[in-house]
Amino acid sequence: MCVFLVFSGIGAYWTHLGQTLFLNEQRFFMSELVNSQASAFERRLSRSLSSTSILAQGVFEHRGPIPNFDDYANSVLESVGGVSNLQLAPKGIISFIYPLEGNEKALGHDVLADDARSKEALLAVKTKMLTLAGPFELIQGGIAVIGRKPIYLPARKGDVFWGFASALIYLEELLKATELDSLEAKGYSYQLFRIHPDTGDKNVFAKSVSNLTDDTYMVSIQVPNADWTLEMSRSEPVKNSRAVIGYIISVIVGFFAAWIAFYILEQPKKLRKVVYQKTRELNFQANNDELTGLYNRRYLSEQLERVLKENTRYHHPAALMYMDLDNFKRVNDVMGHGAGDELLKQIAIRLKEAVRESDIVTRLGGDEFGILLLDSESVSDARRIAEKLMHVVERPVYLNGKPFEVSLSIGITMIPTDGDDNETILKNADMAMYSAKKTGKRNFRFYNAALQREAIQKLELENDLYVAVCEDQFIVHYQPIFSLSTGKISSYEALLRWNHPHLGLIYPDQFICVAEESGSIIEVGYWVIQEVCNQIKKSASNYKFSINLSPKQFQDPRLINKFRSIIQTSDIDASLLEVEITESSVIEDSTAAIKMLLKLKKLGISIALDDFGTGYSSLSVLKRLPIDRLKIDKSFIQDIEQESDDRNIVEGVISMAHKLRLNIVVEGIETKNQLKFVKEVECDYGQGYFCGKPAPFDQL
Ligand code: C2E
Ligand code: CA
Ligand code: CA
Repeated sequence: MCVFLVFSGIGAYWTHLGQTLFLNEQRFFMSELVNSQASAFERRLSRSLSSTSILAQGVFEHRGPIPNFDDYANSVLESVGGVSNLQLAPKGIISFIYPLEGNEKALGHDVLADDARSKEALLAVKTKMLTLAGPFELIQGGIAVIGRKPIYLPARKGDVFWGFASALIYLEELLKATELDSLEAKGYSYQLFRIHPDTGDKNVFAKSVSNLTDDTYMVSIQVPNADWTLEMSRSEPVKNSRAVIGYIISVIVGFFAAWIAFYILEQPKKLRKVVYQKTRELNFQANNDELTGLYNRRYLSEQLERVLKENTRYHHPAALMYMDLDNFKRVNDVMGHGAGDELLKQIAIRLKEAVRESDIVTRLGGDEFGILLLDSESVSDARRIAEKLMHVVERPVYLNGKPFEVSLSIGITMIPTDGDDNETILKNADMAMYSAKKTGKRNFRFYNAALQREAIQKLELENDLYVAVCEDQFIVHYQPIFSLSTGKISSYEALLRWNHPHLGLIYPDQFICVAEESGSIIEVGYWVIQEVCNQIKKSASNYKFSINLSPKQFQDPRLINKFRSIIQTSDIDASLLEVEITESSVIEDSTAAIKMLLKLKKLGISIALDDFGTGYSSLSVLKRLPIDRLKIDKSFIQDIEQESDDRNIVEGVISMAHKLRLNIVVEGIETKNQLKFVKEVECDYGQGYFCGKPAPFDQL
């Protein structure tokens, strides 16, 4: 608005100045013009009137009427110009007229006696000066003035009035000397007038066709014994339209300037808006998880740091919940990743709704979530919320119209009791969560010192495992597998033991999963294969030997080559080897698993599926796997006496396996009754403490 006012104000002021300058110029020009016209008129009149002086001179020279008046007058008319006729009026009576033609009526007229004209004549006599009569309309037409010069001739008693020398001058002739005609054509108006000395009336005796405007310029014309006035104006006022255009342009310029200023001022505003928007987007991207819209791990760490800092000052207790969905992998495998994503989104919404607005709900990655509970006063508060979270998550989630049930394992750390930096708090919560998982999932665990000890032990074990292979700390025990029909040993299963330098003999349950997690299981596994082959070679035994393969090792791309080279260097028969794989090895990518199994079979190695019944293998998958033996997990045989269900399952599995032309091994036979049972259900092989415990080869 200001810019508009300033610019249009400046424009208007300029226009005003220009207008004033223009008007001043116009005025100056007009006054010059009027003056020049008036002086042209005056010059012409005085020239024409000079004819009376020449006539008077002639009378003076001849002391009376001029002989050959006509010739004399003719020569005067030619030299002076603009005069219509010349007259001599001795004693006031018009006696000579040149040219006479058309003026005959005037002859003999006594100007001193004529009422209408005597006034100027008498004045001339009285003042001895030229007087001007008129203008008046002539009988013969036209407007004219008459100049009368009184003539005095010398006599003894002084000068004696002789009469008048007169010139009749048409006003038209006088006007011709000016440019008024052509000026009229250019848009100027004029009038020539006088104020009658007696009546005070204004006599206009010449004027333009168009009337004068209000803005007129006047100049007086000096004529003998009278005062005439020439008044002029410019008929068309250019100035106004110019000024209007000027003002309009000012407004337009003002408007544009205001618009440009507005536009320029608007730019930083727009830019600020864009920057603000972009910053928000970037912040969102930096702090949030794309899939669920929850906060991400980075944001959680930041908030944890803030909470810890505030805690040292204000003692606001808080809690961190580290959550993992149980069995999420199964949803992904069975329903596809799209459904998996949908599940995560729905769970995210439920978690968010279950806690307070101020609590920070985050997705830590995969199927892991974290919630930072602010102002969680006590352990019982946290417990209550953990129970609520488990409850909301357990409600079935509908994916493609089908209900799915998932559960939560939660690890909880209290802040600041369970750690004073965010790394420790996250790590401890993670540890508690793993512990909840280990104790059967669908569970929550608070972090405590025991967990910490366990974790440290795990870490130490991990480190010890790295040196164990090099330092030859492992040994293999062998457990016989019997043919149930003959009662004879058919094969041996190789079971790993670790002769730990400080802890003594450790069993696989204590270190296999650590080795799995750290990856050292692969090297350990190759050591076992080598060791078993050495044993076969050394003992020259004809028994089959089963070797357990961890899922990680089963996926190792070097596996086939390693087997081949070990078999070659040990120089044994590959058909004496069997590998035991678990369902988890084949469930993820069954096509790749089948390829690998076929390669093993091609080497001559037979294959057993271990711990059958604890995983999720469907019969359709089982049908496709190129396996030779199925090992039914010991859990089925353990409660065989009490649970008739287990009996039925074992029977069912055996008949099914037989249909698929697979041999069955039942593990974990600990009692006579169990042995009796497996024999009854026509199981092929048996393994267990009752038949033979694992022992070093030379003690078998
Ligand atoms: P697994 O493959 O199911 O091996 C059988 C386990 O059952 C062995 O435990 C064995 O000692 C135990 N067992 C045998 N008979 C009975 C019985 O009558 N009652 C009971 N309760 N248990 C019985 P172990 O040796 O402690 O091995 C545990 C697991 O460690 C094995 O389970 C196997 O999965 C893994 N493992 C052992 N050796 C190796 C190995 O060299 N490599 C890999 N990757 N895993 C191994
Ligand atoms: Ca086994
Ligand atoms: Ca087993």
